[in-house]
Amino acid sequence: MPDGSIPGNENSRTPLLGPVAGFGVTFKAMFKKRLTEQYPEYKKPTAPRFHGRHQLNRHPDGLEKCIGCELCAWACPADAIYVEGADNTDEERYSPGERYGRVYQINYLRCILCGLCVEACPTRALTMTNEYELADSSRESLIYTKEELLAGLEEGMVDSPHAIFPGMDEQDYYRGLVTEAAPGTERQTAVSKGEAPQEGASDFGPNEPASERVIKK
Ligand code: SF4
Ligand code: SF4
Repeated sequence: MPDGSIPGNENSRTPLLGPVAGFGVTFKAMFKKRLTEQYPEYKKPTAPRFHGRHQLNRHPDGLEKCIGCELCAWACPADAIYVEGADNTDEERYSPGERYGRVYQINYLRCILCGLCVEACPTRALTMTNEYELADSSRESLIYTKEELLAGLEEGMVDSPHAIFPGMDEQDYYRGLVTEAAPGTERQTAVSKGEAPQEGASDFGPNEPASERVIKK
């Protein structure tokens, strides 16, 4: 147009008033109720079943529920889980049964927090927490390792590896018959992780010489 205005746009006929009108919008917004959350000072509680960071759970005596079966990894649509299973031994036992998850990683650069892995887990080893602060500044730090995902120790638990509760078998753990670590339970040495031998490491279990000592207590 010869006067510099844009057809159909009334503001374009008053080019000097345009910026002032823009400040008017800002001025009006200053008195409106704020819509933004006061994060991180105020963290809004999530819904109880919110899908947040995963957790690898333990049995009540501290042994791990994960059996290294990889079903969670196969169920994941984003290929975000990496699992390597290994055999338990009487000298180094992480879970009550034959196998345990030796390596467990979840890549939160890929994970879409859909929960399909939780549905696939046969032992309820894998669940999701309400933690949602998963941002970080490097790719490596967003690949969570087993040590980061493993649940903390609660009252009555002893950190894995340690021997199975004397007189109990794997099924008894899933029947809920083991409610805490047996008296005298001590953490074993983790030879596979290169730990130095510990003085007085646990050596009891149904087929182990010190089991009588523990049962008598
Ligand atoms: S929540 Fe979904 S995307 Fe994330 S690891 Fe589990 S199955 Fe994969
Ligand atoms: S978390 Fe569950 S599904 Fe995944 S490897 Fe462990 S036991 Fe299997």
